[in-house]
Amino acid sequence: MDFRLSRLLCTLAMAGASLASAQAEEKVLNLYSARHYQTDEALYSGFARQTGITIKRIEGKEDELLERIRNEGANSPADVLLTVDAARLAAAHEMGLLAPVRSAVLEARVPAHLRTTDWFSFSLRARVIIYAKGAVNPDELRNYSDLANPRLKGKICSRSGSHPYNLSLLASIIAHQGEAKAEEWAKGVVANFARPPKGGDTDQIRAVAAGECTVAVANTYYLARLMRSDKADDRKTMDKIGVIWPDQKGSGTHINVSGGGVLKNAPHKEAAVRFLEYLASDEAQRYFADGNNEWPVVAGIKLDNPALQALGKFKADTLPVGSLAMYRAKAQVIFDRAAYR
Ligand code: FE
Repeated sequence: MDFRLSRLLCTLAMAGASLASAQAEEKVLNLYSARHYQTDEALYSGFARQTGITIKRIEGKEDELLERIRNEGANSPADVLLTVDAARLAAAHEMGLLAPVRSAVLEARVPAHLRTTDWFSFSLRARVIIYAKGAVNPDELRNYSDLANPRLKGKICSRSGSHPYNLSLLASIIAHQGEAKAEEWAKGVVANFARPPKGGDTDQIRAVAAGECTVAVANTYYLARLMRSDKADDRKTMDKIGVIWPDQKGSGTHINVSGGGVLKNAPHKEAAVRFLEYLASDEAQRYFADGNNEWPVVAGIKLDNPALQALGKFKADTLPVGSLAMYRAKAQVIFDRAAYR
């Protein structure tokens, strides 16, 4: 070989090696997170302790984060996106922001219906029916379909139909029963409203306890948060409320997820996959459950959360998370037609 050429190759090889080692030394992970729970700090410090990789976090509102990553394009420093709601995770996929991940750890630990090729669920929240104790017979409220029964006229409080939690619930109804039944249901629920939709889940819980309405739906972690609150008022609120696991004899209670994926232009892909794997570890799964009152996706995790324990066991809908996303646009059209604003 020509001497100069071999020297050039040698120099290039050395440059490549030093570049690689510089990247390996730079032990950081850029996390874009729409989770805004204080207890998530434990997740980040746990990962740093185990791997020596420091997490640089950028927090934002769900949809803003997706826009931001899209606008940053190939120069985006984002390694991992963490967010809530299956439909939002699917939106990240549809926008082409995520990289496919093959990981034996994730495949072994996250059940198949809770993952896709490029995003993974790490915790579960159930959308349950709540009612004012004494004001309604819980036997008449066994299924989501009961919410559309004219018996409940003037009794239901709800947050907006455009909110992802309600869109995902309706998406699951479309997936199980078809569009026509789903629309009938949405119209029936609207006909039962005590007032136009407003506020968040906690507002609906408080409205039921205050007697503004008698029935609503809410995510379980909001209930658990009130149950564990150190404010006497919050616990009093919960004393007035009954919780129902809908559709226990049918397809199971609708669950939504919190999850994440590795971004297509992630500068630290290896660290990103390690972080996702960490989120599926026993330790991280316990943080989700004990800290933020969500259920682990990994089976057999020992929990230490009195509120989750009090809520008890239930049959969860095993509809693949991808299906919730698939029917989200249709759900919005149906809510619009039903004037579920
Ligand atoms: Fe929430």
